[in-house]
Order: sequence, then C-alpha cells, then structure tokens
Amino acid sequence: MSYLDELRERIERLRKERNAVILAHNYQLPEVQDIADFVGDSLELAKKAMEVDADVIVLAGVYFMAETAAILNPDKTVLIPNIKAGCPLAGFLNLETIKAYRELYPGAPLVMYINSYAPAKYHADYIVTSSSALKLIARLDDEVILFGPDKNLASYVAEKTGKKIVAVPSGGHCPVHEFLVNEYYVLKALEEHPGAKLILHPEVPPEARRHAHYVGSTSQMIRAVGELEGDVFLLGTEEGLVYRARKMYPGKKIYPVNPRAICINMKKNTLHHVAEALEKMKPVVKVDPRMAGRIREILETSFKMV
Ligand code: SF4
Repeated sequence: MSYLDELRERIERLRKERNAVILAHNYQLPEVQDIADFVGDSLELAKKAMEVDADVIVLAGVYFMAETAAILNPDKTVLIPNIKAGCPLAGFLNLETIKAYRELYPGAPLVMYINSYAPAKYHADYIVTSSSALKLIARLDDEVILFGPDKNLASYVAEKTGKKIVAVPSGGHCPVHEFLVNEYYVLKALEEHPGAKLILHPEVPPEARRHAHYVGSTSQMIRAVGELEGDVFLLGTEEGLVYRARKMYPGKKIYPVNPRAICINMKKNTLHHVAEALEKMKPVVKVDPRMAGRIREILETSFKMV
C-alpha cells in the first residue's frame, strides 16, 4: 500500500473511532480536500461547524478558522492538523491599533473580517466574511465604518456601497493576494489566455480588481464558473481553489491567475498531520469561555443579517 493510502486508511479508521468530521478550506491540498467531509469558504465552514453532529471537528485550514469553529462549538473538541498554520493577514490587527482607531472615529462601528484572531473579534461590533461583507455593511445606517484587517476588501466594500470605509490598520493585507495576484499577474494571465473570464477574490489590490468580470469569496468564485458564460476561466486567488473548480466543472478550462500564488500556511496541513491529530487528539484549539461567548453573540447577530 502507498504512503498516502496508508494515511487515508488510518484517517478513515480514526474518523469513525473518534466520531469526527473533517472540514477543509478551499485552499487546502487536493488530498486533504478529498478526504474531507465538507469543503468550503470561511463562512460555509463556520456555518457547517455549527450544524455538525460529531464529537470532534478537525478544521483543516488556518488557526483563525479553527478558533472560529471552537467558538461556535464550546462542547466539541476542535483540532487543527498543524498548529503552525497561522495567517499573516490576521496578524495585522492588535488591540492598540483597534483602540487608536476607535478614538479617532468615535461612534463608528467596527466590522471585523473573519480573518482575524479571537482578541480582535472580541472588540468588534460585527463579523463578516468575504461573502457577507458587502451585504452586511450595506444594511448598516452608519456612513463611516471601521473595517479590519484587510485594506483591499475595505476598498472593495467602499466602492460597492459608497460608504466611507476606514481600513484598520491602513496597510493590512494578505501577502498571497497583494503580491501574487496583483495587476501584473492579472494582465500577464489575460495575455496568455485571451478571452478568458477573470474571476477574482476581493483581497486582491484595486488595480487588479478593475479588470475582473466577477469578484467574490472562494465559493462564490466557484459558483461564478458555473454561471458565467464562456469555457475558459482565470481564478485570481490562492491556487488551491483551481483543484476544486476543475473537479466540479471538468468540461471547462480553468487556470490560476498565478500558479505560484500559494499560501504556505494553508499547505501546512497534510494528510500526515490530519492522521496524527486524530490519533493523539491534539492540537486542541481553545478560546477563553467569556471571550468565546461574546464572539458567538456577535457572529450570530452578523449571520442573521446576511
Ligand atoms: S491566503 Fe492570505 S488570508 Fe488566507 S490564510 Fe493565507 S495569508 Fe491568510
């Protein structure tokens, strides 16, 4: 039996023994997506985590995603395959920054992108994902809104809603989208695939975004491949999404804007790590119960609004 098949067999046995479900983000390695019970974007994973009937959730994604699953499931054991899977974008926000912007814009609500860590979420008024940000912010009466930590998503929401969106901090970004799915790579890909439909994630810089036929979260991007006319598509986000899109639409030609747009953190979860996590029942992701309770309330209110 091959090395990977042995791991798959071990995971299968342990998944049953532990009564576990494996939830994987769209950017995970193909073999991790293939063994998952559910694959989706941040919002779908968070919602799925609330519905699952299992004792153990293995969240194959980055740390803030596992943290969100733990917040929504105080009675379940939440494991992350590799504890080192952090997110540099989430790392942009700290409490001093939040406090400084709150003082600069008193009364303005703070909308927090789900790509943030629990202490930052705890201080938010609303929590959104890339698929819910537009809808929720459009529903707010306020004309000035603080939004953190992604400046590109903030500028996209400002453009679409006409509101003043203040990015907190001003330079927060995902390095994968900021540097590897920027206008240069977009124009290069369009030159290599003339006539292709360009589908981008809102974490890309605004200069890249203006060339897009569609902008949306990872799962919205996949749906757009099915809904937009045409046979050739360019997906501008972390390259892992292309695997899922090709699997869902085998008849279409789907390419990444940049095949080198790889999130090293997302790829830290391997089948080996999933098997080890289930075997050893660690690393367990835990959030302080008082903090988790408050974040759960914010998440539930925010989910109901979209
Ligand atoms: S792709 Fe960007 S936002 Fe997503 S986990 Fe990686 S660094 Fe964070």
